[in-house]
Amino acid sequence: MEALQIKNLTFSYTKDKPILKDVSLVIEEGKHIALLGHNGSGKSTLAKLLVGLLPYEQGEIYIYGKKLDKDSLNELRKKISIVFQNPDNQFIGVTVEDDIAFSLENRNIPREEMLKLVPLYATKVGMKEFLDKEPSRLSGGQKQRVAIADALITNPEILILDEATSMLDPKGKSDVLHLIKEMKKENPKLTIITITHDVEEAYLCDSVVLLEQGEVIASDTPKNIFTNKKLIKEHNLDVPFEVELKEKLIEAGYKINKDASLKEIEEMLCR
Ligand code: ADP
Ligand code: MG
Repeated sequence: MEALQIKNLTFSYTKDKPILKDVSLVIEEGKHIALLGHNGSGKSTLAKLLVGLLPYEQGEIYIYGKKLDKDSLNELRKKISIVFQNPDNQFIGVTVEDDIAFSLENRNIPREEMLKLVPLYATKVGMKEFLDKEPSRLSGGQKQRVAIADALITNPEILILDEATSMLDPKGKSDVLHLIKEMKKENPKLTIITITHDVEEAYLCDSVVLLEQGEVIASDTPKNIFTNKKLIKEHNLDVPFEVELKEKLIEAGYKINKDASLKEIEEMLCR
């Protein structure tokens, strides 16, 4: 089943300056894909189009086979959660508690259920102590945690993380990645789009879609993307540590199996 299908999507904010150019993409249900690209390549714009925050004129977007348009927006919007790059614009509640609870609005969730869910999700993101605080007074990283709780509590079918961990320290980042992994275990059908320019994060996904100046220039497994020397060079991409290490070892004359994990390489080097 296709969770998401984008057909020939072209978009511009101002006349004659297309930001997305003829983007076509299919994302199967349950996949975790990375949308990778340099700053300004159109990643956030694409995310906003997918959740109906920007109207599109050219092309089509289908969510679970249903075309996203004015009539279907309200219904389809419930299937998708997004965490924005800058969480400041995302808060509605006066307190963290209100804010997380507000995400459940219009979903017919009984009040008793809400009273249990809100602290549960606040705990999951490490923000239980902050339930009575004002979102605007939190640090950038804390805001991102609340925004992640907002996104997860609705149990979405599609989750879009737009540089959602950019303000977190390494520990916070790994906490969130762990939390997402747990969610995925609970619900293997969850489809995730991680928007990032961090190649290490992209390397862990099922596939990588590379966006440059509004165009999809490659879409493949992380292994194929990051071992494609021509692509890396032409588009000035970083290479994940594991790939670089293997290449250096092979250059130095070691016989390395291209599919070996970091652990296997470590064991081999110890021997
Ligand atoms: P990314 O998320 O990959 O960094 P964006 O989608 O934010 O890229 O931006 C793509 C391009 O669109 C950039 O050139 C940016 O300046 C432009 N852009 C973004 N938002 C707006 C807007 N509201 N109005 C006009 N141009 C915009
Ligand atoms: Mg962006």
